[in-house]
Amino acid sequence: MAEALDKKRHPGGWGRNGVPSKGGAGFLLTGLVRCGRPLAGGDQCGTAMYGHSSSTSHVYRCRLSLDGGCGGVSRQGPPVDDLITQYALAALHQQGPFGTFPAIPWPDRHALETAKQRQAALQAEWYAGEISDLEYFSRLAQAETEIKQLVIEQQAWQVRHHPAAYEHVDVRAGWEALELPERREILLSLLDSVIILPGTKGSHRFEPAAVVPVWHHTARRLTTT
Ligand SMILES: [Zn+2]
Repeated sequence: MAEALDKKRHPGGWGRNGVPSKGGAGFLLTGLVRCGRPLAGGDQCGTAMYGHSSSTSHVYRCRLSLDGGCGGVSRQGPPVDDLITQYALAALHQQGPFGTFPAIPWPDRHALETAKQRQAALQAEWYAGEISDLEYFSRLAQAETEIKQLVIEQQAWQVRHHPAAYEHVDVRAGWEALELPERREILLSLLDSVIILPGTKGSHRFEPAAVVPVWHHTARRLTTT
């Protein structure tokens, strides 16, 4: 799960602070929204839609046929984001007595592991007499500072993300306090995808029924029957 998220995060993905990077991967439902346009033969298009900045906010669009999509469905982003957020908050509320969020692993745990390994390697070099005392102690101080820093970050993360941290706040307030990447992690943990069906022709009204959340448990049930 965390690995899958890391893969999504880096190449052309969203930054740590949730600022959309080039390519528009930084919207709430990027990677989740799929085109639900029926094709000849009864299948759905199913292409992952992409988020596109518009003059007022953003739009989710099916890819052009050159890019594997049907190019036939697009939807204003904000009402879709709001609707899915409402569904997700309702699901989270049902999950636990206090609407607890699933625990999110600290993203920098690999960096801490590496820093500890470097410190151990440095010690081994010193024992073996490969580096001078002076070099050892200056590099050791550096390594220790780095480890201390990472441990502080890890503790801060755990306090912020431990489910118990949400016991006394309602789900909505907990959600409001999260940054975009954290919201996306929670949605990705709950949802397999969000299918956007074509709207009524000529209508510009938002149609909630044309936005279909596919929860992970539903996806599993469908694949086993
Ligand atoms: Zn399509």
